[in-house]
Amino acid sequence: MVFPADETDLAAVLDWCGSADIAVIPYGAGSSVVGGVETGGGWSERFSGVVSLDMSRMGGVLELDRLSRAAHIAGGATGPAIEEQLRPHGLTLRHYPQSFEFSTLGGWIATRSGGHYATGRTHIEDFVESTRMITPRGPMESRRLPGSGAGPSPTAWSPDRRGSWE
Ligand SMILES: Cc1cc2nc3c(=O)[nH]c(=O)nc-3n(C[C@H](O)[C@H](O)[C@H](O)COP(=O)(O)OP(=O)(O)OC[C@H]3O[C@@H](n4cnc5c(N)ncnc54)[C@H](O)[C@@H]3O)c2cc1C
Repeated sequence: MVFPADETDLAAVLDWCGSADIAVIPYGAGSSVVGGVETGGGWSERFSGVVSLDMSRMGGVLELDRLSRAAHIAGGATGPAIEEQLRPHGLTLRHYPQSFEFSTLGGWIATRSGGHYATGRTHIEDFVESTRMITPRGPMESRRLPGSGAGPSPTAWSPDRRGSWE
């Protein structure tokens, strides 16, 4: 198990694991109910070993943009830690899965979690403007964009997802 403290540590772990043929499994808070943080199922035997990459040292609100009411938050932050740091600024992420206390922002985004303890918008993707990930081939960062106001969403409203309209 490794506990990176920052992006430099993360990149070093991924470099070493890549060169030693070792698989890496990110670990947020381990509340996955579908084996997301486990080995097994045949795939892990293809590697020389497996490292669990615990994100608990990389949590917390790093930056606030009060005008846009947006925050830059490290992926290892748990639900209560995020709310505690936003509250003094009069802000909330307002994402409440039933595992709120025991799960992290990175885990929510990786699993597209649903926060069913709130009304209105409940899915984490509704709140994410941009992500930055450290991959074995280097950092990958999406453009920071607010929610789209450009008409109906083709993925949310397609007949494939909702069933027939007839
Ligand atoms: C009692 C209970 C209630 C639950 N309620 C809900 C609910 O209401 N809604 C819901 O959607 N889910 C729910 N879940 C499922 C689970 O809590 C969610 O899937 C949650 O998003 C997982 O977060 P985690 O931090 O625990 O991630 P983990 O379990 O640690 O990891 C989940 C997956 O994400 C990956 N991952 C984690 N962190 C990162 C990261 N920083 N970067 C890249 N990949 C990462 C892991 O490798 C793994 O594949 C519940 C689970 C339990 C046990």
